[in-house]
Amino acid sequence: MHLEKPAEVLLMGPGPSPVHERVLEAMGQHTLGHLDPDFLSIMNEAVDLLRFVFETENQTTFPVSGTGSAGMEAALVNMVEPGDEVIVGVNGVFGQRMADVASRCGAEVIEVNADWGCPIDPEDIEKKLDANPGVKLVGIVHAETSTGVHQPLEDIVEMTHNHEALILVDAVTSLGGLPVEVDRRKLDIAYSGNQKCLGAPPGLAPITFGERAMEKFKQRKSKVQSWYLDLSFLTRYWGEERFYHHTAPINMIYALYEALTMIKEEGLEERYDRHRLNSGAMVAGLKALGVEPVVEDQYRLPSLITVWIPGDVDDFSVRSRLRRDDLIEIGGGLGPFKGKAWRVGLMGNGSNRTNVEKLLKALGGILNDMGHKCSVEDALFEANQLYQQQQ
Ligand SMILES: *Cc1c(COP(=O)(O)O)cnc(C)c1O
Repeated sequence: MHLEKPAEVLLMGPGPSPVHERVLEAMGQHTLGHLDPDFLSIMNEAVDLLRFVFETENQTTFPVSGTGSAGMEAALVNMVEPGDEVIVGVNGVFGQRMADVASRCGAEVIEVNADWGCPIDPEDIEKKLDANPGVKLVGIVHAETSTGVHQPLEDIVEMTHNHEALILVDAVTSLGGLPVEVDRRKLDIAYSGNQKCLGAPPGLAPITFGERAMEKFKQRKSKVQSWYLDLSFLTRYWGEERFYHHTAPINMIYALYEALTMIKEEGLEERYDRHRLNSGAMVAGLKALGVEPVVEDQYRLPSLITVWIPGDVDDFSVRSRLRRDDLIEIGGGLGPFKGKAWRVGLMGNGSNRTNVEKLLKALGGILNDMGHKCSVEDALFEANQLYQQQQ
């Protein structure tokens, strides 16, 4: 018996994103021991590459074994002690998840809400900070994958620091797709995930802790509730000592290494520009198909576009046909967006002109078949306009 070769589905949903052959090949290399000297140098280089994409000098930077949610859990379980007051911005599924994880760590969670499809208003955070001077940490999602909102960070970081609290940023759908800039923005903790804009398969959650965060960690009075995610062990393995804690997922680290190397080869600015250009073209094309974006221009993510499903077609039938006939996956809506919005991902390797045109053609064809009349030609023309402007 062998694994049947999985179909080559073009991943244009909310993640995972398409994985480059180079990364798959790296992942298929011979497994080394987790304390093998050759593997230790791979770890060192992988961590340097992570510092490069996070744009940080933080010593405590490494990939958590587990998916993006493990990064979220690692950040909170180490930073929060029972009884700590924590503010969390909630304007979608991932902010809600962060609030849930924080409360499981024993935090007194103070939610700051915004409507789905809108960013959190920094003034609302400031009001809660003023009303709760003991707040220790503010958690915010940089790229809310459930809604497609790009959260501006600057004001929130400044307010948080003025109140002597730490800022924790979920950069799962931003790292590698738009600037996270940990040091320049003075983010205290940020985590991400392999399978969005970094372009590796799911399985690791890069994370970074700055000095202020490590200071809070050192002053903890209670033991970290999670043995697996306890920073004091993890830093001993990822640091000089190479102290065995758990077996690192060796081949996943090969994959991340290769994906990060590809990012370095491309260049950060070039990569951000590419994400911006392709999402601009995609939005122009989708609009021409009569498929309107949910989020206004200013706050729209380049890596994930949410669009309203035209009223004359059925959500599931369209997505099923895309998958079956065109081998393309896009995402459905979550929560209040279920059945109302689609989520189109242009992440990592997936963000390119070929994919933009493929989806516009395939989706346009299906929409026409299902009674939503539109012109694929117009859509391709509008997308092309953006590519022309760029040249
Ligand atoms: C995908 C995602 C997560 C969770 O990552 P998993 O890899 O699914 O565990 C967390 N936050 C955001 C913003 C995400 O997009």
